[in-house]
Amino acid sequence: MTSPLSKRALLRVEDATVRFGPRAALDAVTLEVAAHETVCVLGPSGSGKSTLLRAVAGLQPLDGGRVLLDGADQGAVPAHRRGVGLMFQDHQLFPQRDVGGNVAFGPRMHKVPRERREARVRELLDLVGLPGAAGRAVGTLSGGEQQRVALARALAPEPRLLMLDEPLGQLDRSLRERLVVELRELFGRLGTTVLAVTHDQGEAFALADRVVVMRDGRIAQTGTPLDVWQRPASAFVARFLGFEN
Ligand code: ADP
Ligand code: MG
Repeated sequence: MTSPLSKRALLRVEDATVRFGPRAALDAVTLEVAAHETVCVLGPSGSGKSTLLRAVAGLQPLDGGRVLLDGADQGAVPAHRRGVGLMFQDHQLFPQRDVGGNVAFGPRMHKVPRERREARVRELLDLVGLPGAAGRAVGTLSGGEQQRVALARALAPEPRLLMLDEPLGQLDRSLRERLVVELRELFGRLGTTVLAVTHDQGEAFALADRVVVMRDGRIAQTGTPLDVWQRPASAFVARFLGFEN
């Protein structure tokens, strides 16, 4: 299905194709994310979710199609100039830096002056619910706390698009459910534009304004969580959501 290029689309992915050998990890994927929208890509392992995010970030070259941010083709734009933040599942904080040093990493790379950097770190740590943690050693943090620091680090350079790849994948269910609610509230408050990936439908439905279901490198369905839940577009989507066919 093609949708008209809406003026408000912050991200537009157009017929994006990525092949690994004979297999297409992405097969002519087209999708849009509007400014301030949270879109969750949902799908089984191997369906191409991470490849999609990496392609948008500029870490994975396309074999076909294109990526536009604010209407501008990113084909010739290197990853560090795209203004997108990407947070991986294994968020890998820098163990030799304290919490503040981790969060300040992006702004330091972008030569933000020290005073503004420190104010930004304080502000972000407040936002993610870790006030006053700047001086703590990474090794003393719990898994959930590390996840929050990784999120603050991804937000620090003020990306125009924040992309999360299984951001809560390594946490236990109760913590995940709590963090998802907090994230949704946080993104709403900041007006962040988010493209997140998960294989957990509960997480996707709780976080997303819109859900994109992927299968074998293609989009199987796009809609609001309620749409997809009430009207799965195919037997695959229904099965993936846990309905009997
Ligand atoms: P997901 O994130 O949905 O689990 P991926 O995007 O990681 O899926 O992978 C999609 C498909 O592409 C899988 O079949 C995977 O094995 C393959 N793939 C991903 N990255 C590479 C790579 N660097 N080299 C070869 N095949 C890859
Ligand atoms: Mg993945």
